[in-house]
Amino acid sequence: MYEEERIEMVERLIAFGYLRSEKVAEAMEKVPRHLFVPKDLEIHAYEDRPLPVGEEQTISAPHMVALMCDALELREDHRVLEVGAGTGYHACVVAHIVKKGSVFAVERIAELAEKAKENMEKAGCGRVHIIVGDGTKGYGKEAPYDRICVTAGAPDIPPPLVEQLKAGGKLLIPVGSRYIQDLILVDKTENKIEKKNLGSCAFVPLIGEYGW
Ligand code: SAH
Repeated sequence: MYEEERIEMVERLIAFGYLRSEKVAEAMEKVPRHLFVPKDLEIHAYEDRPLPVGEEQTISAPHMVALMCDALELREDHRVLEVGAGTGYHACVVAHIVKKGSVFAVERIAELAEKAKENMEKAGCGRVHIIVGDGTKGYGKEAPYDRICVTAGAPDIPPPLVEQLKAGGKLLIPVGSRYIQDLILVDKTENKIEKKNLGSCAFVPLIGEYGW
C-alpha cells in the first residue's frame, strides 16, 4: 500500500537535496511510514512534515530522517543507539540500512514504546530493540556504539552519550532551546571530540536527567 506515494516522497527528498545516499533512499522507499502514524492521519504519511502521534509527541518529518541518516554515514555492520524512538519510524529506517548490525532505541514514554513495538512488527522490522527509559543516560548495557542519534532537542550534549560512543564514532543531536535547536554532529576520536553545526531544526524537548 502507498508504494507510489512512498517512491514519490523519496524522489522529492532527492530533488530538494535532503537525500544524497542511495542506501538511505532505498531504506525510505521500503519503510511504510503510514504504519507509524495514527490511522486518521495515514493519508498524510507521505507528505514531508512531522505529524502528531499522541502523548504530545510527533513523528519526525521525512527530510529530517533522511538528512540525519545521511549525516551519520551509517554502515551495514554498525551498532546504533537512537534516543527518542517515538512510534519507531526513524529506527526502522536505520535498521534497513544497518542490515548486519544492531539497533537499540530508547523511549521515555511507555505507551509510545509499546506502539513502536507493534508498528515494527507490522512493518516487518523485528530487529530493533525498543527500551523504555531515560535515553539522556544512554543505554550502558549495550554500549559502546558506532553511531548515536538523538531525535529530541537537548539543552546540551549529555555526557553519557559521548562516553558510550566508540572512538571513531559519530553522535548526532539537536542542541539549543526548548523550541529551536542546531543539529550538532559530534565526531569522537581517541582523545578528542569535534563538533560541526549542520543547521537549525525544531524537535520536541529531550526530557530527563541530562535533558530538560
Ligand atoms: N524518532 C522518532 C521521533 C520521535 S519525537 C520518529 O521516528 O518519529 C522524540 C521522542 O523523544 C518522543 O517520543 C519523546 O517522548 C522522546 N523522548 C524525549 N526525551 C526522552 C528521553 N530522555 N529518553 C528517551 N526518549 C525521549
